[in-house]
Amino acid sequence: MTGIPHYPMYIDGRWRDASSSLEVRDPATNELVATVAQGDVTVADEAVAAAKAAHACGVWRMTPPDERARILDAIADNLAARFDELTALQVRENGATARSAGAFLLGYSIAHLKYFASLARSYAFEESGLLIEAPTLAAGVLRREPVGVCAGIVPWNFPLLLAVWKLGPALAAGNTIVLKPDDQTPLTLLELARAADEVGLPAGVLNVVTGPGQVVGARLAEHPDVRKVAFTGSTEVGKTVMRAAAGNVKKVTLELGGKGANIVCDDADLDLAVDGTLFGFLLMCGQACESGTRLLLHESIHDEFVRRLVARASTLVVGNPMDPTTDIGPLISAKQKARVEKYIALGQEAGCKVAFQGTVPAEAGLADGHWVAPTILTGATNDMRVAREEIFGPVLVVIKCADDAEAVAIANDSEYGLSAGVWSADNERALAIARELESGTVWINDWHMVNAMFPFGGMKQSGLGRELGPRALDEYTEQKFVHVDMTNDRAKRVYAVVVSAAATA
Ligand code: NAD
Repeated sequence: MTGIPHYPMYIDGRWRDASSSLEVRDPATNELVATVAQGDVTVADEAVAAAKAAHACGVWRMTPPDERARILDAIADNLAARFDELTALQVRENGATARSAGAFLLGYSIAHLKYFASLARSYAFEESGLLIEAPTLAAGVLRREPVGVCAGIVPWNFPLLLAVWKLGPALAAGNTIVLKPDDQTPLTLLELARAADEVGLPAGVLNVVTGPGQVVGARLAEHPDVRKVAFTGSTEVGKTVMRAAAGNVKKVTLELGGKGANIVCDDADLDLAVDGTLFGFLLMCGQACESGTRLLLHESIHDEFVRRLVARASTLVVGNPMDPTTDIGPLISAKQKARVEKYIALGQEAGCKVAFQGTVPAEAGLADGHWVAPTILTGATNDMRVAREEIFGPVLVVIKCADDAEAVAIANDSEYGLSAGVWSADNERALAIARELESGTVWINDWHMVNAMFPFGGMKQSGLGRELGPRALDEYTEQKFVHVDMTNDRAKRVYAVVVSAAATA
């Protein structure tokens, strides 16, 4: 395997290898990209011990927030300086197209790290001088302190970005963290560790352990020294993490699945909505939890909209993700391909019509990739499995509705509540619909626009807590109230209700 890079893990400021390895393969070609040390429970425990020691000695939590911000900025700058190299690595690691890897995965990761640095500078870590007048004169201090050792469990679809959403607030708030990437996509997280190491993040503050989720992820979720776990992934595994976290009552943030309802009103700019609908369900070949995968069309525009959607979809290029002209890349794995194909068959069995199915690349070199053609299923109803379950692939189901009220009812008839969208020329109408939707994010005349200054997360079974936004550090801090008596007068003390002032005089 000459020329194939090998990545050790990053623990306590050192690169740590293991006796067995994982293989990372390019989803477009199935070629071996790298081998990676395979961690286990022992290594997970080592990483937690390193993070615990770094927290206890105060090397990071006692570093002033401005200095913590400077280091987070420096990590972001280090990633930016390697933008092209890391974009290419991201493409090879998980099949993101070069365009989306650059703009979303790298671009957002860098910008969001800088946002968390700005939060470190502005966050109210201590508010003192709070005057308490009753029942006694006292001063109050409200402190927000780091929780300690955090664990971040990250999926394969946006590995670097979703790691930044955990590492950024954790480190801005003064915690230490152990990150666990998905075993299919550990490379960009290990490059994130390299960046942190190069800019001088103290040893033990960030640790990356690679290995199977059911072993390493499960250990981190239940570890008694981990005080907070942030998880992004499937709803099913999220519930397992939540149950494991109950063992020592960890703080928990969960970003889980979705079945985004995309409502196109009868007054929408149809061509704009067509492009937005395709973008909404095809970014990352549909492997994005916030995708718009249920298209709810008003009856009056249904046929014309589907006609335009199919015409536009047929212009999209599915192919080599490294080519900047490619619109859609492969799925992550053979397993994911089989899952998506199963759902396309299930939709047809339930009575859906395949209104569009694109092509997959036939060129040499891509034959062993995990390709599924973009597929539009019309004639769906909201009780079908293709409308209720997360497919996580390039599949759109189209459902007719009579009016805005029915569109809202169908949109909300889901166990998920992560994302939704409304297309209308009338902002008041769209906002009225948005107010009724049970969804953590609603886009009006747009999709996928995640803004670091606003919280991201799901309602219902799409998650718990929020990442991003001005309160992001709240999820990584404990509040402590310190009461300082100002009277120095024994007679006035309220504990005289138990111990009389006279008796203690
Ligand atoms: P997954 O739940 O299988 O894996 C996610 C992560 O959890 C991986 O790192 C995995 O190794 C780890 N893991 C697996 N079993 C574990 C266990 N028992 N204990 C602890 N960790 C464990 O999900 P996936 O297949 O990587 O991603 C697809 C799913 O994730 C979809 O349902 C998608 O919607 C969801 N997702 C949600 C978001 C979001 O922001 N809400 C983002 C990306 C993916």
